[in-house]
Amino acid sequence: PSALNEFKLSYEPIQFEDIGGLDKTIAQIKSCVLTPIMNRKPLRQMGIDPPSGVLLHGPPGTGKSLLARAIASSSPNINFISVQSTDIISPVVGESEKKLTALFRVLRDSAPAILFLDQVEVLAKKRGYDSSAQQSADRLLSCLLVEMDGMFSKQNKKVRIENDDDDDEDEQQAIIVLAATTKMELLDSTILRPGRFDYHIHVPAPDVVARHDILSKITKNMPIDPSINLYTFAEQTNGLNGADLSNICKEAALHALRRDLNGSTITLEDFKSVMNQPQSTNQQEEELLN
Ligand code: ATP
Repeated sequence: PSALNEFKLSYEPIQFEDIGGLDKTIAQIKSCVLTPIMNRKPLRQMGIDPPSGVLLHGPPGTGKSLLARAIASSSPNINFISVQSTDIISPVVGESEKKLTALFRVLRDSAPAILFLDQVEVLAKKRGYDSSAQQSADRLLSCLLVEMDGMFSKQNKKVRIENDDDDDEDEQQAIIVLAATTKMELLDSTILRPGRFDYHIHVPAPDVVARHDILSKITKNMPIDPSINLYTFAEQTNGLNGADLSNICKEAALHALRRDLNGSTITLEDFKSVMNQPQSTNQQEEELLN
């Protein structure tokens, strides 16, 4: 347990319903991560190997970490181990590999468990990509490959099962690596093969409909002036991601508080003053108001 605590980070719970514009992605994640980890038996009966790894990829600030937290929050019986890949890297030769091996041991010992590896490109860079640190990067990649290949091997099991009980075996093998990257092109192709990261789920930049959904969810509990049209707001924020929209809404709320400490409503003026773009023309302003 102490080893688990070393890696286990506290996270703020979040529901899938609070994530905007990613309904299709959420359905994919549920079927690739949650279903296989919670229902081992049907998979085994169908003669299908459960996935070892699922990769979330897409531009920054689109909700990849949010999705991982929602998975963890939706399944309290599953241990969730969340790691920033950069925290594994050590300048001491061999130390990063030791940490990675220890992390996978913790994962196996914590089954049923999900390991979330954020910024996984740090651990699995294309061979030869970074010539100055090539040897250490290649060693780390090899270590990750070995660990992922050994996830379900008999000798790695927590306890050797004397009576070969299938249910115990299912329980012990209920582990999965969920990784996220904004730089899929940097990943070595060997890590993307079946048996390692079996599924690749794209988390896209939000289009106008998705931005509208995100804004509705972010502002759900905020006292927004009812005359503000969120769809028009979404139309005028082309190119911004969920993280940008969340920041704008938070800043606008703080601006409203500074204006009026009793915190009445967040007005169009509050939004305009925090948006880092040229002042809206009168016409845009009128559009924003119903
Ligand atoms: P990075 O790849 O840069 O680590 P990310 O894709 O993991 O980014 P998150 O860390 O999940 O993005 O998002 C940052 C913050 O932006 C979230 O905590 C949330 O407030 C907001 N956010 C991002 N995407 C969404 C979304 N789809 N719905 C609601 N909020 C979102």
